[in-house]
Amino acid sequence: MSRYWSDIVSKLRPYIAGEQPRIPGLVKLNTNENPYGPSPKAIEAIRQATDDRLRLYPDPAATELREAIAARFGLTAEQVFVGNGSDEVLAHTFQALLNHDLPLLYPDVTYSFYPTYSLLYGIETIEIPLDHQFRIRLSDYDRPCGAIIVPNPNAPTGIGLPLAGIEALLAAHSDVVVVIDEAYVDFGGQSAVPLISRYPNLLVIQTLSKSRSFAGLRVGFALGHRDLIEALVRVKDSFNSYPLDRLAQVGATAAIKDEAWFETCRRKIIASRENLVRQLEALSFQVLPSQANFIFARHESRSGAALLAELRERGVLVRRFDEPRISEFLRISIGTDEECARLISALKEILVA
Ligand SMILES: *Cc1c(COP(=O)(O)O)cnc(C)c1O
Repeated sequence: MSRYWSDIVSKLRPYIAGEQPRIPGLVKLNTNENPYGPSPKAIEAIRQATDDRLRLYPDPAATELREAIAARFGLTAEQVFVGNGSDEVLAHTFQALLNHDLPLLYPDVTYSFYPTYSLLYGIETIEIPLDHQFRIRLSDYDRPCGAIIVPNPNAPTGIGLPLAGIEALLAAHSDVVVVIDEAYVDFGGQSAVPLISRYPNLLVIQTLSKSRSFAGLRVGFALGHRDLIEALVRVKDSFNSYPLDRLAQVGATAAIKDEAWFETCRRKIIASRENLVRQLEALSFQVLPSQANFIFARHESRSGAALLAELRERGVLVRRFDEPRISEFLRISIGTDEECARLISALKEILVA
């Protein structure tokens, strides 16, 4: 601890991202990256924009990108906010919309950035336990609160909430902002975007990192009533007016427009997931029902920590969270069919021993 730090810095609990090791031939199933590349049209657009124009600042409002996203979702550009990854969009959301006198509610097992942002911005929180099947029980959210955030599907469980449940939550909490973090919604979940026109308290956050294979480009966005979007713009313009560089803006715009590529990749991943679930169940894993590009599974007799270590020795990287209730589970990102096959053969080797 340095005597030069501000008070808040010593109290932070920074988010720990999954490893990005440089081991040749590694099967990397630990950070929910998409195993297929981004849209070739998006790569070409980035190439075309890579020239002298990089001496100029980008459009601070990312107008073309916001218009493309608005068109894709049947909204107007005033209902769209973009940021440097949805993590940044979430950070601005915590500061702009979730910081109130009453506590912020979110599930006890969820995206571990939420407690981190809450500490960073001094937000009081209440963690609402998932039920014994790791499902969100919406009636548990019927209590005074300043705001609510839930991922749908939830992470790291992969379990989705039906749209009717989201709508019930919005209706029961019309006096506070309800944020739905849809990082994984394109892999089988039901998006809350169609509810935006009727619920001015709804903010939906999505990312290009997972279903559009662009984790390296860092683009995320929020959709909601223009008043909510304006709050985010006010925070952004008090922090960094150019969060998205020129290449990110053109690449993301082209990626959003390439619906065919998006559809093909997400269907392949859903099919690989269903196949992987069957094989893991045959190896005596309990697999939670996933609507995401990862699965959350625990073996009936082997410990999560031991399995993770033995998989790593065999060149397969998965993720585990050393936290209450979930420390025996492995979170396994869906790779290509070849990568899934390598995982299964490594597990067969480990489990016979
Ligand atoms: C991956 C993820 C994000 C953040 O993605 P970015 O790469 O920052 O866009 C947000 N929420 C959840 C639940 C995630 O899993």
